[in-house]
Parts: sequence; C-alpha cells; structure tokens
Amino acid sequence: MKFGTKCIHAGLSPDPATGAVMTPIYQTSTYAQEEPGKHKGFEYARTQNPTRSALERNLARLENGKHAITFSSGLAAMDAVMRLLQPGDEIIATNDLYGGSYRQMVKVHQRYGIKTHFVNLGNIDKLQKQINKNTKLIWIETPTNPMLKLVDIETVTAIAKVKGIMTCVDNTFASPVLQNPLNMGADIVLHSATKYLGGHSDVVMGALVVNKDKIADQLYFLQNAVGAIPGPQDCFLMLRGIKTLHLRVERSCKNARKIAKYLVAHPKVGKVYYPGLKDHPQHELAKRQMKDFGGMVSFDFPKGTFETANKVLANTRYFTLAESLGGVESLIGHPASMTHASIPKADRLKVGLTDSLIRLSVGVEDVDDLIADLEEAFRNV
Ligand code: PLP
Repeated sequence: MKFGTKCIHAGLSPDPATGAVMTPIYQTSTYAQEEPGKHKGFEYARTQNPTRSALERNLARLENGKHAITFSSGLAAMDAVMRLLQPGDEIIATNDLYGGSYRQMVKVHQRYGIKTHFVNLGNIDKLQKQINKNTKLIWIETPTNPMLKLVDIETVTAIAKVKGIMTCVDNTFASPVLQNPLNMGADIVLHSATKYLGGHSDVVMGALVVNKDKIADQLYFLQNAVGAIPGPQDCFLMLRGIKTLHLRVERSCKNARKIAKYLVAHPKVGKVYYPGLKDHPQHELAKRQMKDFGGMVSFDFPKGTFETANKVLANTRYFTLAESLGGVESLIGHPASMTHASIPKADRLKVGLTDSLIRLSVGVEDVDDLIADLEEAFRNV
C-alpha cells in the first residue's frame, strides 16, 4: 500500500457494529461484561478504546512500525520514553531541540537521577566521546526546532546499536510523509501529533511508534499505568486529519520552498535556515534522508534584535503569531520568547537561536498571498 492510501485506509475498516465508514467516537469510559472477565476485548477506557485502537493501527502503518501507542500530548509520549530508564542512566540528546523536550529532561527527569548531555549530534566524534556505560538513550530530533539542522539517523542509530543504546527520533517536523526513522534503525519514533498529523490546530496529542514487541509492551503498560491517554473525540479528529496528511505536507513543502527562496533574495533578511536550500550545511543529507524538505523555515536579520523581529511578528495578516506548527494555516513565531524560552539564553545563542530569529510554519494557503503578507510586514523593518 502506498503512503497516500495508507493515510486513508491503513488499519481501518467500516465499523463492524453498524457499517459506519468513518471510525465512530466510542465515547464511553467502560464496557459491559457478560460475567467477570468475559467481554469483547474492552474493559475500561483508560486501557482500551476502539477509536484509539483504530488510530494506533493507522499510525503504526504510517511509520512502517508494528505498534503505535498514543498519549494526551507529545510531551506525555516523551515522558513514557523517559520512564523506560532507571535512576543513574544517562541520555545523550541533540543540543538543538524543542524547548519543552529540553525542559522535561532537565527540570523533571534529572530530579529522578536521569542526566541528559546535550551534544551536537552532527559531530560524530563528540557523540562517541560522550557515550559511557550509563548511556541508555540517544534522543534525536531532526530537522531540529527551530534551527532546522539535520541529524544523520542511520549513522547515529548504527553507533547506538553497537553499544546496545536505545534511540528515539522526534519526527514531528518531518512527519511520516517525509521521513520514517524506524526504516533507518531507530527503536522509537515520537510525534507531537498536535502538529502535522492532526494538521488543523484543534487537537493536542502524542504518539510513539515502535517495532520491537518488548518496548511496545513496556509502553502500553505505561500508557495504562500512568494514564496520560487521548480521549476518543481527539482520536477521531486525529484520524480525520491524517486522511489529508500527504496532501497537506506536499503543499506545505512546495510553499516553504518558494518562501525560503524569497527570503534568501530579500535585502532586509540575513540568514535563512531551510534544508531545501543548496547552501544549507546538510542539504545533501536532507536529500538522502527526507522525501522533501518540510514546511518549516527560520530566518534572522543582520544585527537584529527582538525589536527588529517584533516589527515583522506584529504586522503579518495571514501568518498568525502563535506557538505550534504543522496546521493548514501559516503561523509565525519568535522561538526565543515563545517555544524556546525555557532554554537559557547562553545555550540558545550557542546554536544560533538569537533574539531576532523568526520561525515560520508554512501552511497550505496560496503562496503568493503568503509572500505578499511577508513583504508588507518587512516594510516596517
Ligand atoms: N516535539 C517537537 C519537535 C515539538 O515541536 C513539540 C511541541 O511543539 C513537542 C515535541 C511537544 O508536543 P506537544 O506540544 O504535543 O506536547
């Protein structure tokens, strides 16, 4: 089955009870049993729900995995991965990553004895030097948020495999349309399904996809034992969003390519970060690892300050100033004060995340309107 067909059909079939073509919302917290333990496979809705099961079957197929386990948010999914570790274990994580992931590692799990080392995973020597006997997890985000750097998934997972270290790839920015990390050796794929998978900025959800039964069993256990599950209405909306995932991502990529070129040529704009640009340091890796370059573009101003950025942020019409990404509508964001505010400024600057950096999530509108919108906003700079 090809990808577009998977979005619409994989793991799904008309409802056995009624023939409903769309998976119904099973809005129930519990299920009748004929006698204790004799039931139709569903006991209590934290443990199983048919709408959620349908979504999990579909998600597993999108990532070429065997199991998908969904959570109430991307960070709840991440928390489940962290709970696979023991006090004393260490993580190596890419040093340019979503601020909330950084915050969870440093401010939550470190208190329970799990230390994270942030390393530029583009530098394999540095990665090798950081690995020790306590390293149990390598956390990869690629492309990274917001600098759009790439990590070579095959290289890093191969190193991890030799040393018996588990790998998790946050695939939120690429979506399963552009990149399937399980095929490249990863043990776990994480999605903030809130973003491209849902695609309509109306659901917060997380998902993990794995192939190994042993890891899946532990994650299903945590899903039930900790209880951070998504509700059936959200699972329905997610299934509905996924039906157009391939179309939306294709259009976002096309629009983003044009916007990146427009920004490069703009006299007021400084650096433009987009893996599709020929001068992006990992353009060749992007061509090899991803099917297209994604819908996220970041850019900066020469000698820019927060005030410079704010002149643009406050003056767009179609690009809404908001956190999040991956929806049909275009968003504009200021990582230093929004998504990445929880990372200390010195660490932000180390990866190039300045106070004037702007991040765009390019939606599926007509690109000429989006470019005209930016042009108008740049007049103020
Ligand atoms: N990973 C990435 C790359 C993100 O951008 C986000 C949120 O912005 C998350 C994880 C967290 O997901 P959620 O907001 O669904 O908890």
